[in-house]
Amino acid sequence: MLRQYELVDLVKSYDPEADEDALNRAYVFAMKKHGAQLRASGDPYYSHPVEVAGILTKMKLDASSIIAGLLHDTVEDTDTTVEEIKELFGEQVANLVDGLTKLAMIEQKSTNSKQAENFRKLLLAMSEDIRVLLIKLADRLHNMRTLHYIQKPEKRLRIAKETLDIYAPLAERIGMQEVKNELEEIAFAEIHKEAHASIVARLNFLREQGSNIVPKIIKQLQKDMKDNDIKASVTGREKTPYSIWRKMQQKNATFEQLADIMAFRICVDDIGSCYQALGVVHSKYHMVPRRFKDYISTPKPNGYRSIHTGVIGPENTRIEIQIRTSDMHEIAEKGVAAHWAYKQGQKAEGKNFRWVRELLDILEQASNPEEFLENTKMEMYNDQVFCFTPKGDLIGLPISSTPVDFAYAVHSSVGDTCVGAKINGEIKPLRTILQNGDQVEVLTSSAQHPSPEWDRFVVTGKARAAIRRYLRASKREQFITLGDEIIQRIFKSERMELSDKALVNVLANFECETINDLYAKVGEGLVTGWDVLKTVHPGYKQSKLTKVVNAIKSPVFTNKSKSTKKSGMEIKGLVPGMAVHFSGCCHPVPGDRIVGIVTTGKGVAVHTIDCKVLEKFSKEPERWLDIGWGDESDKEKHVARLKIMLNDEPGSLGELSHIVARNNSNISNLTITHRTITYVEILVDVEVKDLKHLNDVVAALKASKLVGYVARDKQ
Ligand code: MN
Repeated sequence: MLRQYELVDLVKSYDPEADEDALNRAYVFAMKKHGAQLRASGDPYYSHPVEVAGILTKMKLDASSIIAGLLHDTVEDTDTTVEEIKELFGEQVANLVDGLTKLAMIEQKSTNSKQAENFRKLLLAMSEDIRVLLIKLADRLHNMRTLHYIQKPEKRLRIAKETLDIYAPLAERIGMQEVKNELEEIAFAEIHKEAHASIVARLNFLREQGSNIVPKIIKQLQKDMKDNDIKASVTGREKTPYSIWRKMQQKNATFEQLADIMAFRICVDDIGSCYQALGVVHSKYHMVPRRFKDYISTPKPNGYRSIHTGVIGPENTRIEIQIRTSDMHEIAEKGVAAHWAYKQGQKAEGKNFRWVRELLDILEQASNPEEFLENTKMEMYNDQVFCFTPKGDLIGLPISSTPVDFAYAVHSSVGDTCVGAKINGEIKPLRTILQNGDQVEVLTSSAQHPSPEWDRFVVTGKARAAIRRYLRASKREQFITLGDEIIQRIFKSERMELSDKALVNVLANFECETINDLYAKVGEGLVTGWDVLKTVHPGYKQSKLTKVVNAIKSPVFTNKSKSTKKSGMEIKGLVPGMAVHFSGCCHPVPGDRIVGIVTTGKGVAVHTIDCKVLEKFSKEPERWLDIGWGDESDKEKHVARLKIMLNDEPGSLGELSHIVARNNSNISNLTITHRTITYVEILVDVEVKDLKHLNDVVAALKASKLVGYVARDKQ
């Protein structure tokens, strides 16, 4: 294990300005916090973060990353808090550790290995700072290096598979070839012990038998380059056991059939020389068909650039040759890390840690993450969120998706019947915006139907289409029911006879084919009930009309006036004609988050979302309606109830009503609920336009020295 001063010296060797004191403190902090915890190897636990920090020094990462590496398990595994780290080591380190802790929590939620691709995207999307990902990979690398200490074979196997599925491809995606290779080799040896052993043995055998064929080929290729005046360095190596095994699988070939287990690399100074070298190789050796790839003109998404070709090379051996510049090589091996060294190198040679600076500068100065991502050409899936089902499956959704989108993504029947959602175990409104890594449990009820309100916040096409389809179909149904009711009420209140036959007789007058068509038109308000009455009974006297106008203002129809813009109030999420009233328990005012509860015989009661009365309906989700306030600003006054503690002294009540009046509000009711020698506790009903207005009144009351306490009283 690296000792404290060794680690500090390592960091100082490439970054002389690194904060030595902070590094020392972090080392000691990790040691203390992990205390007597032990690793499977029997080593003290803190040896792990120290080794992770050591790996990070190999990547020449900045001091903040090294410190975060030292602290990366403290929040997850000890009583340490992110706040504590922020206080001791600053915001940057705290953010890195926080990011790593979140990744660790995400890891525990995922159980479905088939969704590796989504999981990789999730990890990328959650690593807002690329350093989080680099530290995570170092963490995994050290865990893999010590994998053999873990006793349970099934646990070793699971970790190895996860590494192969998730972390090795992730390392590749950000271009860290070295890390990727090591992760793969260790995982391969664990998962396919025998295959690994056999390939290693054969490679050893070949090496002994091959009478040093690799150096011979290198020598020949070097000569070929020199003869053509190309400055080049040539290296050769065996492919890794895992890549050989993969080839054997892909091509369904035996080890003997795999000709090119050796790969050679020609590194030159510039791109022009790459193609010159390629010309030399192809003119001298037979090219193997379909083995040529030019990643210089078309780089891989992770930034990898190189020319690959397969030839029957020197010694009549089939080999693979990669041709690239030394800058490209650096990037291929070190990935995103070297990418910055390369960019920096174009301006100033030398100092190999400068890329860290530039990376940090961009991270800190980029006005938005996308800008940074664009620059690094990394796919970070910024436009998507990934959420878990309770079973651990991952669902990918566009950014700003809600539980309703999630429900429709699971299945349209789940979407159609969703009544609520638990996000990470807590009940949340359906309009909640989902975050990466959220675990979403959709609550359904067979009595539920898609709500028009949902259309205002869903973002996926699937959800939107399903909701609209349903609403188109159901609207007519609702208009029919409503129209039927309106016609019946009017005929009944006028004591006029109503029969289907009578209605059928007048259908033509309203350009309708069926009675339902007529009901729908009345329900929708295209035809009034009075029109129908007058048509069915042409002798109906005009004089009676006025009298009946009052009759319509019966409770069932109050919503009609309340929900139209004329009188101001508008509630979204209700079918026109639905009766609505504001509950007296919580006194909702526009701006409050609200829900509707269907009450028998009284239409829909509107409650604030935190009203205690709602608990009574928790077992009847079919009665819940997702509603919201309309867009129209509304001139009507709403009553809100405040509980106020007031100094009991002469004139204090007068002052109270002054304050309320000065803020354009009225007191509509006032009850004294409690009285002591110095204080009175009163319930005051104030009339306000909306929540903002109410908040103004409350703020003004709070500012008065006569007022000891003001709060909204919701039951
Ligand atoms: Mn760890």
